[in-house]
Amino acid sequence: MTLRYDRVLVWFRRDLRDHDHAALSRALHEARAVYCAFVFDTDILDALPDRSDRRVEFIWHSVRELDAALAALGGGLRVEVGRARAVIPRLARELGCDAVYANRDYEPEAVARDECVAHRLREASIAFHLFTDQLIFAPEEVVSAAGQPYRVFTPYKNAWLKGLDEARLAPHPVAERTHRLAPPGKRTLPTLEALGFSSTDLLQRGVAPGMGGAKRTWAAFQERLSDYHLLRDRPDLDATSHLSVHLRHGTISVRALVRHAYHTQGDGARIWLGELIWREFFQMILHFHPRVVDHAFRPEFDDLRWPGGDDVFAAWCVGRTGYPIVDAGMRQLTATGFMHNRVRMIVASFLTKDLLVDWRRGERHFARWLLDYELASNNGNWQWAASTGCDAQPYFRIFNPVAQSEKYDPDGSYIRRWVPELARVPDAAIHAPWQMRPIEQEACGFRIGRDYPAPIVDHAAARARALAWFSSARVQ
Ligand SMILES: Cc1cc2nc3c(=O)[nH]c(=O)nc-3n(C[C@H](O)[C@H](O)[C@H](O)COP(=O)(O)OP(=O)(O)OC[C@H]3O[C@@H](n4cnc5c(N)ncnc54)[C@H](O)[C@@H]3O)c2cc1C
Repeated sequence: MTLRYDRVLVWFRRDLRDHDHAALSRALHEARAVYCAFVFDTDILDALPDRSDRRVEFIWHSVRELDAALAALGGGLRVEVGRARAVIPRLARELGCDAVYANRDYEPEAVARDECVAHRLREASIAFHLFTDQLIFAPEEVVSAAGQPYRVFTPYKNAWLKGLDEARLAPHPVAERTHRLAPPGKRTLPTLEALGFSSTDLLQRGVAPGMGGAKRTWAAFQERLSDYHLLRDRPDLDATSHLSVHLRHGTISVRALVRHAYHTQGDGARIWLGELIWREFFQMILHFHPRVVDHAFRPEFDDLRWPGGDDVFAAWCVGRTGYPIVDAGMRQLTATGFMHNRVRMIVASFLTKDLLVDWRRGERHFARWLLDYELASNNGNWQWAASTGCDAQPYFRIFNPVAQSEKYDPDGSYIRRWVPELARVPDAAIHAPWQMRPIEQEACGFRIGRDYPAPIVDHAAARARALAWFSSARVQ
């Protein structure tokens, strides 16, 4: 069989694994020698606000593991630090490659970077090929019969499921052609410190990076999958998969997850598969409507001046709103880099509806802290909660934080974990401690205003204000 290229460079980005990998698999089929590279992109690193960032550490551990895994197969990872748009064309030339292969990334900044790399490679007569890997369907593959992108989730999901077949779910094999992997010349993984970052509490927090971490997390979740539909909304039980960070960085293959869910009977697997389809839905929205990055999807909500100010935003960020479930979620976020999905919905509704703070401020705060931060999912969900997005909550649907708390954290154990000031508050008052009479507060040695803030808004009044504000905004 004649090979398409002599030497190909595979550029790893958010696909940090050595198996079921579209670009690597194709390169191993099509080239005599395959080099692998990863770039710590200073365009991204320099923009981070902190020199201690759990995500950088997650990536660092995952890259180290990938390098060792590829080396064990006869190759290895060339790790570079610099502007990827300059480094990749230089490296491809240096290694004498005819082509660069990578998996497609749909975020607008990544698309712009890839266009720049493609242009520079073209100037050097080097080909650049992108493959679908982090999604089952590329955004333009699931469109309506009229060829239009969907704006509503359910028809999108139906079309997505209709298009699914075994070929689409088949792994992209790597194992049988690893003899084509070429040693990278020098293997030079810089230390975190050399990258300008210090280590964090990532590992102490129990986050397991890399393919090994993903494998263990996935194996543990498979035991719980059948109950997912029953338990997924309970932050106190923490029964979701925790695979989001691995999907973000490709330390697990989405095809393996979908294959398993698709072939497993029961409501747990069916509902969980639906969540993975939401992920693709928001990637599709971002692809077709990149303006959502800083604009409302629904134009009638785009020019709104959200009245919520800095003081309430600051109280929300640090988890001192006086609403225990909101404060627990916000503190879980900064303490761990994770927040349970139900609580993400509650805090986002609280910020945008009870406090009428611009959803973009909440979105940016999440982007700063979430270990699984994903532009498409974060933006899509924030706009869903704020009612500015496609297929969003109607604006008049406003979560009552106390009712949500009673329903989803019934004995308050999630709250108690993250808001230790409430330790002395009896169970009956844990969701709304301000409702305790002074004498009851005294009896348990706790005082609102001293030990824990009074609510920064009254929910009933805030709800009425939000309804009036949203309906006047709609008629503008
Ligand atoms: C305001 C807000 C912001 C969010 N920001 C992000 C984000 O930055 N990154 C992110 O990955 N998810 C985000 N989500 C979605 C969801 O909260 C997380 O994916 C989920 O909590 C991750 O935990 P898990 O892996 O245990 O999820 P599971 O319940 O096990 O779900 C499995 C996978 O499905 C996907 N998924 C689940 N729910 C959603 C959803 N609502 N939208 C899109 N994909 C979903 C994720 O990839 C997740 O890992 C956000 C949700 C809200 C309400």
